[in-house]
Amino acid sequence: MAATSAQHATPKRHTFPVAPRVWGLKTVIVNLYFVANPDGSWVLVDAGIPGSANKIKEAAAQIFGPDSRPSAIVLTHGHFDHVGAVKELAELWAVPVYAHPMEFPYLTGQSSYPPPDPSVGGGAVAYLSFAYPKKPIDIKSHLELLPKDGSVPGLEGWHWIYTPGHTPGHVSLFREEDRLLLAGDAFVTRHGESGLAVITQKREVHGPPAYFTPDWGSAHHSVEALCDLDPEIAATGHGLPMTGEELRQQLKRLVQDFWLVAVPKHGRYVHEPAVVDEYGVVSVPPPVSNPVPTVLAVAGAVALAGVAWAAMSKRNHKKGYSYNKRSRHSAGQRPYSHNRVLRDTPAAIDPDYTNPTDHTNNYP
Ligand SMILES: [Zn+2]
Ligand SMILES: [Zn+2]
Repeated sequence: MAATSAQHATPKRHTFPVAPRVWGLKTVIVNLYFVANPDGSWVLVDAGIPGSANKIKEAAAQIFGPDSRPSAIVLTHGHFDHVGAVKELAELWAVPVYAHPMEFPYLTGQSSYPPPDPSVGGGAVAYLSFAYPKKPIDIKSHLELLPKDGSVPGLEGWHWIYTPGHTPGHVSLFREEDRLLLAGDAFVTRHGESGLAVITQKREVHGPPAYFTPDWGSAHHSVEALCDLDPEIAATGHGLPMTGEELRQQLKRLVQDFWLVAVPKHGRYVHEPAVVDEYGVVSVPPPVSNPVPTVLAVAGAVALAGVAWAAMSKRNHKKGYSYNKRSRHSAGQRPYSHNRVLRDTPAAIDPDYTNPTDHTNNYP
């Protein structure tokens, strides 16, 4: 059943076609992806903003037929806009959720992400970022480690690539057959911080969203690794898919000029990354002053916030969504300090995973 409906599915109102057997769905500000095998079985990659479970279920039904469920959910990373519906969907579908071990602390209530950096500038979305939830969700009852061999559970012909920087355990997914890359937020195809770009959806390769990226050295290495894959199609967490020479040229330029075009001129993490280990955040640099937003930026931020949050909070209330409640409990269990290592426990990271500490403090 699923195979037939997957093959004959046409692009629907909210979904957009990416490549054979891959569809994207935008939930307000972020994309998630439905990825199918030739036999019709499928996997959900990322899970949208909070409150988007119904929209994701509807899209899945449209593509794969009613009552179809994936074999797994795979997370590129755990930022709130990529895991919003993950708990609800994992419970509903009774499926495992796969992530990289370095992302586990932020998915099991162990650690908050490093604080976002609203001082990086770049418009309404960045100025607003202080208001985004950054506390960890807890999905440990569904969480599974991505296989060490690089395979993607439930998907034939795909492998995952460790692409930290934007978050400590960020991964990207690659399908060799048509060189299709799902890059999460390792790089994006829209200028994420600009309110105008959010509205116009101009396709253009940009670095990871700056307000949430706490390790620019690692982020640079990750973009380089993805560029080396020579992708033919790239679909990212923010923006529309890009293809061919346009994609490859812009990706090469991003790698070459990363410190000029992707890394903000000023910001909390520009000269020093957040230090993390497999238990979460160890220390972060002190905050830098937040430039006073212009009247325009404030107005833009308020407008954007209104649309996004009205939708979210309405649904969250209705569904009794427990994101904030849960994270309040788990947050604070392991507070981090500024430039102060809290523990002297050595990090015991499984060497079979690409050594994450190699990527920290990598500066040119
Ligand atoms: Zn992100
Ligand atoms: Zn994102």
